Amino acid sequence: MFPEHRPRRLRRTETLRRMIRETQLSIDNLIYPIFAKEGTSLKEPIEAMPGQFRYSPDVLPKLAKTIAASKIPAVLLFGIPKIKDSTGTSAHRRDGVVQHAVQRIKDAAPDLVVITDVCLCEYTDHGHCGILDGTGEVSNDDTLEVLATVALSHAKAGADIIAPSDMMDGRVGIIRESLDESGYEQIPIMSYTVKYASSFYGPFREAAGSTPSFGDRRGYQMDPANVREGLREAAYDIEEGADIIIVKPAMPYLDVIRLIADEFDTPLCAYQVSGEYSMIKAASTMGWLNEAACILESLTSIKRAGADMIITYFAPQFAEMLS
Ligand SMILES: [Zn+2]
Repeated sequence: MFPEHRPRRLRRTETLRRMIRETQLSIDNLIYPIFAKEGTSLKEPIEAMPGQFRYSPDVLPKLAKTIAASKIPAVLLFGIPKIKDSTGTSAHRRDGVVQHAVQRIKDAAPDLVVITDVCLCEYTDHGHCGILDGTGEVSNDDTLEVLATVALSHAKAGADIIAPSDMMDGRVGIIRESLDESGYEQIPIMSYTVKYASSFYGPFREAAGSTPSFGDRRGYQMDPANVREGLREAAYDIEEGADIIIVKPAMPYLDVIRLIADEFDTPLCAYQVSGEYSMIKAASTMGWLNEAACILESLTSIKRAGADMIITYFAPQFAEMLS
């Protein structure tokens, strides 16, 4: 008798396939990134990311209510300030754009979890993620104090989770310490733990105006060729107090997501980055890909690889598909 095995028996109908499906996507695991830009009445389209916008804080309450109503549990806030300087002071102003945006969103949708990105690249005039030393290199230890100040200002503004994305060594520990000392010991840290120096961030840089004015970020973000290094990064961040760890980008690094998920019990998040989003958008616009099907397949693959949560620009579209 041949064939001896017939796995196709369980693929015959959609109901059978639904019964044996191993990975389930849920809106509960999605986080929607938002760009908050200093100003008023702004909703600026981001050309390289069709369907995404830069919003001023005053228009965010409306968006926050829509997102909360669609059952997306969390947003991740990035700030675009008016003024940039060499040390990124706009990042920790009490009336800064993110601080302002957090308050507006929490007032409008108190149950929506607001996660804030902590980094300096959108706030420095040179576009690097930290303070430069005399030679133009990003100084790790000089940057740590500033990051802790930024994190604390976000917590004071009402942020629910702090997400440092700078890739400086030791920043999870110093942020944890600074939050704890000020009575914010209940605020979790979601750390960009395994963040690669990726070309897939291209559209984001247009969105946030955070392209480095010289050099690149390979001196602090990870080499795409490495994976054992990611395990070390994860071990350090967890030891320093990270409550959630992030792998970024997602789809080109599914093997890394799998490995981290197998090695560590800490909740794991993956960031489906701007380039991953724009590729699907562009090819769909050309009629080369089926957009809805590719959204579902890409998110499923990230979940299947082992991510508990996914940061994705497709979150509102996914919510729409469910309804
Ligand atoms: Zn940065």
